[in-house]
Amino acid sequence: MELFLATPRGFCAGVVRAIEIVEKALNKYGAPIYVKHEIVHNNYVVDDLAMKGAITLKDINEAPIGSTVIFSAHGSPPKDYKIAKSKNLQIIDATCPLVTKVHNEAKKYNDKKIILIGHKGHQEVIGTAAQADMYIYDDREDNTLPDYDSDEELVVLSQTTLSVEDTNKVANQIKSKYKNAIIRNDICYAVSNRQKAVIELTGLVDLIIVIGSTNSSNCVRLKEVAESYGTKALLANSPSEIEEYNFHGLLKIGITSGASTPEILVDNFINFLKPLKINIIGTEERDINFTLPLELE
Ligand code: SF4
Repeated sequence: MELFLATPRGFCAGVVRAIEIVEKALNKYGAPIYVKHEIVHNNYVVDDLAMKGAITLKDINEAPIGSTVIFSAHGSPPKDYKIAKSKNLQIIDATCPLVTKVHNEAKKYNDKKIILIGHKGHQEVIGTAAQADMYIYDDREDNTLPDYDSDEELVVLSQTTLSVEDTNKVANQIKSKYKNAIIRNDICYAVSNRQKAVIELTGLVDLIIVIGSTNSSNCVRLKEVAESYGTKALLANSPSEIEEYNFHGLLKIGITSGASTPEILVDNFINFLKPLKINIIGTEERDINFTLPLELE
């Protein structure tokens, strides 16, 4: 069997930064350090940091008074910062700068009607939707667009980890109803590059394995994108999750991984599948680095 590895795959700049923030904070302040929400949506990463002393909290209210708390890469609503302040917590903010950019857009266009294309309940959408008054359009639901004047100058924002093609469809639908709509392109470089690479894989393989956690939005989107191009796809974080799958007769298997998936998990799948040949598909993305918060520089 031949393996086709998508490029780019795996960690994005926002995830590298978030993990580095936790590790540097542990070095500087010692364990335990608290993390509000999973620092990134990958069980392996969260468990690994937990072993080093980073305790994940579901809610900021669980943080002990006066402790150090890192806010996850997905962004947080302003109320969490207020609660942290009232509990005298030291906040270290690991919100990805590309999510902060969407928060800033929401604040900038606060005087206009805003539609956020995003998945209700996802941590990033919870954070963005709390920055200004907005209507959330969730493409998994049976939506109707809000009933504004057709010449309304509304602004369309989006969650950073959605499917590029599905989001464009919704944006076009909004644009045809509201001709003055300002469409911001908020899907991040890492998500769109990984989707482009998985589309390239679909023309070459019988099955695509997306490596990552099931609660990772960008991983779920990669699986859906592959399937929308007619290629069977699995989403798993470790080979044990797919060992029951019948690989018999599959000659070409593609592998990609989400923006929060460490490369060691890709190695685990390669060792499990034991391919006769490995082909690299796609092109490397530009090296992007984000600066760390000042207190950890
Ligand atoms: S997927 Fe994009 S928005 Fe999310 S952490 Fe990575 S770079 Fe930032």
